[in-house]
Amino acid sequence: MRFLLYSLAIFLPVLAQEMPPAYVCGRAEAPIVIDGRGDDTAWQEVRELSPLRDIEGAAIPHRCRIKMLWDDDYLYILADMDEEHLWATLTEHDSVIYHDPDFEVFIDPDGDGLNYIELEINALNTVWDLFLARPYRFNDSNILHDWDIRGLKHAVNLRGSLNNPADTDDGWSVELAIPWSSITSHAHQPRRSQAPAPGTCMRFNFSRVNWQVRPAPGSPSGYEKLPVPESNHVWAPTGKVNIHLPEHWGRIIFSNQPGSTWVAAPPAPEDTARLALYRILNTQLAHRGRHGTFAKEIPLPDGVQMSFAAPDFFVLTTTCRHSGTHMRLDCEGHFYATAPESRRPELYLWVHGNKERSDEEWGELFHGYAQAGISTLIIDGSAAQLKKLVPLVRAEGMKAFAWLWALNRPGDETALLHPEWYAVNAEGKSCHEPQHRPFVDYYQFLCPNNKQVREHLLQQVRTMAAIPGLSGIQVDYMRLPDAELPHALWQKYGLNMSTPAPAFDYCHCSTCRQEFSNNSSQKDWREFRLQSVADLFNELAAEIRSHGLVAACAVFPSPELASRMVHQDWSRFHADLVLPMTYHSFYGKPAGWAASISREAQQQTQGRLPMVPGVHLPDFSAEELPAHLEQLRATGVPGIGIFSSDELTSEHLEALRLMSR
Ligand SMILES: [Zn+2]
Repeated sequence: MRFLLYSLAIFLPVLAQEMPPAYVCGRAEAPIVIDGRGDDTAWQEVRELSPLRDIEGAAIPHRCRIKMLWDDDYLYILADMDEEHLWATLTEHDSVIYHDPDFEVFIDPDGDGLNYIELEINALNTVWDLFLARPYRFNDSNILHDWDIRGLKHAVNLRGSLNNPADTDDGWSVELAIPWSSITSHAHQPRRSQAPAPGTCMRFNFSRVNWQVRPAPGSPSGYEKLPVPESNHVWAPTGKVNIHLPEHWGRIIFSNQPGSTWVAAPPAPEDTARLALYRILNTQLAHRGRHGTFAKEIPLPDGVQMSFAAPDFFVLTTTCRHSGTHMRLDCEGHFYATAPESRRPELYLWVHGNKERSDEEWGELFHGYAQAGISTLIIDGSAAQLKKLVPLVRAEGMKAFAWLWALNRPGDETALLHPEWYAVNAEGKSCHEPQHRPFVDYYQFLCPNNKQVREHLLQQVRTMAAIPGLSGIQVDYMRLPDAELPHALWQKYGLNMSTPAPAFDYCHCSTCRQEFSNNSSQKDWREFRLQSVADLFNELAAEIRSHGLVAACAVFPSPELASRMVHQDWSRFHADLVLPMTYHSFYGKPAGWAASISREAQQQTQGRLPMVPGVHLPDFSAEELPAHLEQLRATGVPGIGIFSSDELTSEHLEALRLMSR
């Protein structure tokens, strides 16, 4: 028990904040003119980064929209900010710009927490650019104030009047083109002065500093600052009012796809263990600050070693149990990570949270899952139940996703009051009517085009997103009822589904028919429904991401199969993670089918979506499970899902535990 308390003391401060955010930066498809406006064609369809948060982690009103693009010569950044009072006073290059309201960019090209670039710009287009060899927490941070980003192009555009308290302004935008020669020639990049190779990951942060002011006629800006601290709104919160903690910065992954294409960032399971190393380093630096020396003994989390080469020099090492990545951090801040030859996939487990268990019983279960190398639990249950369970999951060092049923909502009391919300088949029969539901009574599908349904589901997302400590939301049943059933299930339901049947063809409700006829650009009825389902998911996913959460979706085995069977073309989904239900027994196939359909799905989506194929546990004994996981792992997927906790035996857990070593 003493050990458990120690490990909690180390882990809780890390777990109190979310993992660093990530963004995939696509290529610019057309030239960009740096005029601060961002009205170039190239910017139009580009996705925004996740919203800024307070630097200590709290959500704030979304008032800063950031986009990124790149080409062979430049990295492009566009930031558009709402602002009621535009003011700025500093006009001299390399002034301390954050004394004015500003926008800031931080770039750590090789992500080692050292040798990074800082750029600040105000509404007068004045720039402060500098290079930091080490963050301030070390005694010799070695800051090059005179260093300049050579060839930097920068412009601002004001939507309002500068330094005029008499009116209310709209905001301002910043547009930057940073030459790669400035970014990659100053860090430990193997390729110097060049654009990064596609797939390269760099650590970034963005910050917006604002001051509370009141009108002050006669002062240079027309305003004076109130005697309160500035606000710091950042992309990747550091948990402290200090942006110079680069270990918390977010990941930017450079992709060869056009900026308008949806590409999800691959998960980084090793971030948890990496941050744990930095937490110990910071504790030791604080100890040296107070006592003059590092502590010889310090409680360490499970799996972390600290070795002293000299009284004033130690090295921390650990291996991420999810990815197998070996990490090393020394007391001078040098960080090295060695990826294993083949990355170990993360394990996800679906958990039925609506069970009568005490906190102790849940805690014991979760402890067993964590010991078996499971990294994420996807939990079914009410918001109240999840509020209780999420802290217990996180205390074991795992992530928790809420498991949200979307278009199929059995027993939804609000929905049942609205018969017009339900999906209708080609014979005009509604899922609202118990005698007309397809296959099973719990098939109570709603219509993807009904506006009230959309609002109802958005509300479900918001309720889940408010649960403290949640890492993501996995949307399930993001589809219409099965127009086609897998062969192996025909017998179960006494059906022959070899030809399409109107009774299983949804949604023909009046809303959908009306919507289809209103939209003359939609020629094809089937295509219209595929897009309706995708549009609804993308709306829910945007809401999920606006809360800083991972937007995941449970899907059928491949986009092609899913489109045909359940009107779910998930190649159009803007998901951060998809979990295909690659359950071979449902399709009457051999176990090897799961790996081959996963490869097909990767080809159909061109690797744009991180895939976590699923294992249907009743199909595998504890002896058979490792070989099946190895087969899936060989497809290069970042994770594997296990369905479900109910069928997970202690023998299964032991087999997983042996594999994760
Ligand atoms: Zn409908």
